[in-house]
Order: sequence, then structure tokens, then C-alpha cells
Amino acid sequence: MEIQPRSMPSEELRMKQDFNKKVFVNRSLTLENIKCYGFDMDYTLAIYKSPDYESMGFELLRDRMVSIGYPHEILRYTYDPSFPTRGLVIDKTYGNLLKVDSNGNILACTHGFYFLKGDDIEKYYPNKFIQRHDTDRFYILNTLFNLSETYLYACLVDFFTRCTRYTNLHKGYQHGDLLMSYRSMFQDVRDAMNYIHDTGILKDRTIKNMEKYVVKDPNLPVLLTRIKEMAKVFLATNSDYTYTEAIMKYLLESNTKPGSPKMPWRSYFDLIVVDTRKPQFFAGGTVLRQVDTNTGKLRIGTYTGDLQHGTVYSGGSSDIVCDLLDVKGKDILYVGDHIFGDILKSKKRQGWKTFLVVPELTKELQVWDEKQNVFEELKRLDVFLAEIYKHLDIGSRECPDVSSIQSRMKVLTYRMDMSYGQMGSLMRSGSRQTLFASQLMRYADLYSSSCINLIYYPLNYLFMAPPVLMPHEAASQNAELASSDLTVNNHAIKN
Ligand SMILES: [Mg+2]
Repeated sequence: MEIQPRSMPSEELRMKQDFNKKVFVNRSLTLENIKCYGFDMDYTLAIYKSPDYESMGFELLRDRMVSIGYPHEILRYTYDPSFPTRGLVIDKTYGNLLKVDSNGNILACTHGFYFLKGDDIEKYYPNKFIQRHDTDRFYILNTLFNLSETYLYACLVDFFTRCTRYTNLHKGYQHGDLLMSYRSMFQDVRDAMNYIHDTGILKDRTIKNMEKYVVKDPNLPVLLTRIKEMAKVFLATNSDYTYTEAIMKYLLESNTKPGSPKMPWRSYFDLIVVDTRKPQFFAGGTVLRQVDTNTGKLRIGTYTGDLQHGTVYSGGSSDIVCDLLDVKGKDILYVGDHIFGDILKSKKRQGWKTFLVVPELTKELQVWDEKQNVFEELKRLDVFLAEIYKHLDIGSRECPDVSSIQSRMKVLTYRMDMSYGQMGSLMRSGSRQTLFASQLMRYADLYSSSCINLIYYPLNYLFMAPPVLMPHEAASQNAELASSDLTVNNHAIKN
């Protein structure tokens, strides 16, 4: 759904735009103490243009599915950016797409494009709950790369459910003597995804049309230059050398502000590591090799020397990066977009400081601002509900009818969710937070819609986390405020 911007006074507009430039803080952090900045590349330094990039990914995947034998009718599907949200979970057993909270409670559930209601959800999941750690059954679509895959899976389920040639079974479809399970369809989509990544088709298309698919921001060279004056900088990407070079050249060499010197892209970094295989990189890692920057080929053997400026490495681990740069984990701020591969693992395994890039935040902030009143009403209903029960206790026989409040809450939650897209917000469903939101709060010290937003802060800045009250603290504070309001009011009445 397209959101129409309402007209607003210029001062208010400026403040809204400022929010989009803001870096948000979960845990306080002093930039002055950061001795080393690490960057991921895809969707972090290189922001892919949405929805063009996901559309291209979707088409490559869809075409691949047809070429391995899926019915050509699926070619009729085109990518719809309003459907998928990052962080959904595929249930390989029943073919459903689920949105869950941090405990695995189900917030939304679709079968293809059909949204299941409460009773239907309970038929599949009697407790409206999944054991999300059961990775054999559930797959979390964590990255922005997964969006096209999420949508393709929904298209396949939609197609086979409605196609009369196929019989719907509990765990898949039957066509003659052929059984196609949701699980095998999931595997085919995953394989197609690996195919378009590993064969380089996706990369070739991107490189051939950089203007269309990659955001070029002249502030990126400014940011990296400034950071390198104060600290060490490294790049750690899962992409290979040839692709990394093409992207970084485009972002840094053809992109300087008028008057600034042209520098080779590698000179922006103290260390460049490609083929990092995150999340493995943050654990044991792989063999560290040197890359021949003329041919893009790897040199055989394990690299054992000191850090050489301008040298590009392949593989390795986060420990090796610390050794080569002579920095400790706690002195590193690592900037990435992958909640699991970049942020959770670097924080949990190595104690690095973390900065999560959330490109969706621009839209999230816009909707949040426009639908603030809906959320306020949800909160008011909650207070209203508490009021109804206020004078009742365990001895009460009275049974207040709260069904109208409950259905109003459902309507408001639905209305709010739909403002973000069909699967709702990345962060919440009504007043409940998603798994993604809880991981973001737990593992990302800082987060923002783009890493470029660091240019709006001095490099000695103290990012202070706002104090967050636990429910018992908030309740006691609210009671205090209410009583002080009462005192002020009484005072006003007397005078
Ligand atoms: Mg990335």
C-alpha cells in the first residue's frame, strides 16, 4: 500500500527527515574508544535499490524453477514488494509462512497468499507456537537477499493450491503418481537461490546495470576517509574478490565529491577480507589466503605473514583480523545488515560492538509517525481494560464483557499492520514485538537505516542509550506522576 505524505510545516518536516538520519542506541557506546571499524559490503556499504534489486532476484529464481521442471504458469507471477517482510519463518512441513515473536508465538500466518485466522492457525499449531530452534523444520528468512525467495515460495504454494491438476494434501500436492511435498519445494527454492548466487548470474546482472541496482552515495567516501584518519578500517564480505572490486570501485572511485582527490578503493581500508563465510568467520573461520589482485585468483597455501597494506585476503576468521590489525574485540565497531551472520555472532562470540543497518527503518519510521494515533488508541484500550477490572478481585462474581474491547484491539492491530505491508512491520504486530525486533534490541548496540548516518556525529560522540523502564518501574513511576498531577490540580483548585 502506498502511503501518501501529508503536507506538514517545514520545521516539522525537517525534524522527520532528521529521524531518518539518526543512529538509534540500545546500549551506550563512546565512539572515542573505538579503535577499529569493520564493514560488511552487501546491503551495508552497497545498498541495493529496492524493489528493483529484489524483483531481479525474484525473476532469476522464478526462471530457474521453470528450467528445473516447475510449470511454466509460474512465469506469470511478478514480484510484489508489499507482500514479504524480512524475518519471516518458513514451515517446511506445512508450507506456511509465519511471523513470530522472540518466544516462537505466532503473530501472523499465511498459506501462499491466504491469511489464516485464529482457528485455522490452531489446526496447524495447537498452541499458536513453534519451536523455532527446530531448524530441520523451520527456516528463518533473515536477510534482505531472502525477500525474493520468501515471495517465490508464497507464489508456488499459491499456484499449486489453486491449480486443479494437483490434489491438495496435508504436507504437499499430488499429481498422478508424483508427490510434491512442501519440504521438497522449499529445498528447490533454496537450491535455486544458491544457483543464482554461485553461478554469478545475480552478480553479473548487478554489475551490468549498477545505476539501476546500487545506491551511489557521495557521502560514503567522506565517511570512510574521515574514519580512517582516526581509526583502523576493514572490510569483511562474503562476496568474492571480482564482485567486491566492481562494487567498491563504483561506490568509491567514480563517486567523489567535486574537488576531493580520487583514490583507489583499496586505499580506504587497512584490511580487506573477501569470501569470509560469515557466520563461520566469527567462530573457527577458514584458511586465510592472499588474493592476486591482478587475476582475482587465490594464492595457494595459508598466509602467515604480517599485514601488508593494499593486500586483499580471502577467508580467515575474526581472530585473524584482530591479530593482523592488532586490535581487541571490544575496540571494534562492526557494521552489518545481517542480524544473525553479522551482528548476533560478532557480539555473542567475540564481544564486538555492533551497528545494524536496517534499510527498512525509513518506511518503519514513516508509518510509525503517520499511525501514531492508532498505537495511542491501543494503549488507551489497555488502560481502559485495567479500569474495568480495578475494583474486582478473586471473590468477585461479576464478569465484565470485554469482547468489544478485544475486537477493537484486533481491528487496530490489523489496521496498523496493513500500513506497513501485507505481512506487517519488520518490528511488531500491534503491541507485540517480532523475533527480529527482540534480536535487534539484544545484539545491536546501535542501529540506523544506513551506515552513512555516522557522518552526522563527531567521532568522539557518546551514544547514550535511553533509560528503559521495566513494567514494575514504569508502573511505580506512573503512579508517582499521577499523584503529583493530583497535588498540582488540588493546588490549582485551592488557589
Ligand atoms: Mg550484508
